[in-house]
Amino acid sequence: MNGKALAEEMRARVTERLQAMGSPPVCLATVLVGDDGPSQRYVASKQKQAAAVGMLSRHVDLPATASQTEVEAVVADLAADDAVHGILVQLPLPYGLEADPVIDLIPPLKDVDGLTAASLGRLVRGEAGLVPCTPRGILALLAHYEVPISGRRAVVIGRSMLVGMPVALLLATKGTDATVTIAHSRTPDLAATCREADILVSAVGVARLVTPAFVKPGAAVLDVGISRTEEGIVGDVDYDSVSEIAGWITPMPGGTGAMTPAMLLENTVDAYSLQCLA
Ligand code: NAD
Repeated sequence: MNGKALAEEMRARVTERLQAMGSPPVCLATVLVGDDGPSQRYVASKQKQAAAVGMLSRHVDLPATASQTEVEAVVADLAADDAVHGILVQLPLPYGLEADPVIDLIPPLKDVDGLTAASLGRLVRGEAGLVPCTPRGILALLAHYEVPISGRRAVVIGRSMLVGMPVALLLATKGTDATVTIAHSRTPDLAATCREADILVSAVGVARLVTPAFVKPGAAVLDVGISRTEEGIVGDVDYDSVSEIAGWITPMPGGTGAMTPAMLLENTVDAYSLQCLA
C-alpha cells in the first residue's frame, strides 16, 4: 500500500476542494515548544505542504523553557482568532509541560489533530467531527486499496489516544464493521492474537516487532511504528519477511507516515467548512 502516492492524490484533492470553494484564506496554525529536531522537521513539512495546496499557515515557536501558562496563552489566542481555522500543537511537549490542558483549549472545530476530549468523545459516540490524522490515513489506505473490512477481524497493537485507540474505534464503527481487538504491552501471546487478524495495525514503536509469526497469510498489515535505530528509521514490521505472506502491506517509510500530513490538510479544510456552517 503506497502511502506516498495516495498522499499525493489526497493533496491534489485538497487543492481542488479549495479551488471549488473559491480559494478562501484557510489557515493552519502550528505551535512548537522546544527544539526537538524531528518535531521541527515535522512542523516545517506540515507548513510547506499547507502552502503547496494553497493554504495559509501561521507558526508560533516557543522555547523549551516556556511555562505551562505561556503555552496555554498562545493556544488560547489562536483559539480566539477567527482568521485561524486549524490549530496543531506538536507533541510531545518538553518535559515538565502537560499536554492535555493545552490540547483541550483548542475548540473542537479547530481541532485538526482530533485529540481534544471533545473530538475523541465524538468519535466514541459516532458523531461527526475531526478525526486524528494517522488513524484517518490508515482508513483511507484501506479504502483506496479496497481491503475488505466489514465482518473481518482486526487487531490493533497499541492503545494510545494518538493512534491505537482511534484506529480501533474507526475500524469498529457502525458502517465499517470490523470486529476489533486492541492488543498492548500486557497482551499475553501477542503473536497468536495478531495471527487472528485479517487487518493488523501496529502502532507500538518497537523495531521489527511484527514477524511472519504474527501474520495470517493474506492479511493487510499497516505499520505505524517509528524507531530510530543505528540502521536508520525502522518500522514495527519486519517488512521483507512479512511482505512474503501479507496480502497488503505498508512500507516504512512511504506508508502510513506519508499519509499523516495529507490527512492534516484534509482535516483543516473540513475544519474550515464546519466553521462556515456553525
Ligand atoms: P505510545 O508510546 O503512546 O503507545 C505505544 C503503545 O504500544 C502503548 O499502548 C503500549 O501498550 C504498546 N506497546 C508498547 N510495547 C509493546 C509491546 N512490546 N507489545 C505490544 N504492545 C506494546 O505511542 P504512539 O504515540 O501511539 O505511537 C506509536 C508509534 O507510532 C511510535 O513509534 C510513533 O513514533 C509512531 N507514530 C507514527 C505516526 C505515523 O504517522 N506513522 C504517527 C504517530 C505515531
